Amino acid sequence: MSSELSGKIAVITGGGGVLCSTMAQALAAQGVKVAVLDLKAENADQVASAINAKGGKAIGVACNVLQIDSLKAAHEKVLAELGPCDILINGAGGNHPKGTTSKNHLLAEDLESTEEGLKTFFDLDPEGIKFVFDLNFIGTLLPTQVFARDMVGKKGTSIINISSMNAFRPLTKIPAYSGAKAAISNFTQWLAVHFSKVGVRVNALAPGFFLTDQNRTLLTQPDGSLTERGNTIISHTPMGRFGTPDDLTGTLLWLCGSGSEFVTGVVVPIDGGFSAFSGV
Ligand code: NAD
Repeated sequence: MSSELSGKIAVITGGGGVLCSTMAQALAAQGVKVAVLDLKAENADQVASAINAKGGKAIGVACNVLQIDSLKAAHEKVLAELGPCDILINGAGGNHPKGTTSKNHLLAEDLESTEEGLKTFFDLDPEGIKFVFDLNFIGTLLPTQVFARDMVGKKGTSIINISSMNAFRPLTKIPAYSGAKAAISNFTQWLAVHFSKVGVRVNALAPGFFLTDQNRTLLTQPDGSLTERGNTIISHTPMGRFGTPDDLTGTLLWLCGSGSEFVTGVVVPIDGGFSAFSGV
């Protein structure tokens, strides 16, 4: 297909995952050549193969966003097989149970409790917190250092980071993930200003609640009905449903294209109204 994005080269970290594989397919459908980077090489290759089978152009690249040597090797491969990067999507990210409390609120009696599986704020493992901060924040900073060099001074280049609802107001149970995504929103604004003289726009998507493998057991029961947390989310989402990966596509293409030429440093909620609703 021919579009204004045709022929551009996109690098998508976490491209083997649920949301970013859909973004990879959406960009490829516009004629963008896509490098699908993922820690899980097999998943990256599968996404690339599916794009190539539909007549697009994609390569799968094994890459750890936390290791600079792995990123540099991925960069060499992208340069050799596709060319310099025009669009970078920093999609690798997520939460970890070690950075999560088991209850929404601490009660005084929890301190003496022997309940199995109870994990209060006081039990949080600093290593778990560091893991989540590193994956989301350092895992965005390092790929940007490696790939954004290609973009400096080049017209029509964009970086898209992935923030979250918890960046606006923290969600219960997940202090590390909330803090790390708040850092991503802040970094998006910082980098937008820093790169404003060299033509690289920097924006972020803030997906609301999308049912994926990472959160399925938190939000739904084995029979498909909602858990208490799932119910709370839906009752606070004015549009009354979870997002689907395709819901991100329109905003992604807008932020990568010329229609948003004067837009930089924004974090766009794609959330069915969740962040606008006070709950009353
Ligand atoms: P996902 O787990 O399906 O995708 C994440 C991908 O990142 C996986 O393929 C994983 O292998 C890869 N990855 C993990 N560690 C990596 C590393 N060190 N190096 C390279 N790749 C690595 O998750 P998803 O739901 O598609 O999430 C994609 C992004 O969207 C994440 O940043 C996530 O935090 C964010 N997000 C998701 C939701 C949601 O509801 N699913 C909401 C808001 C934000």
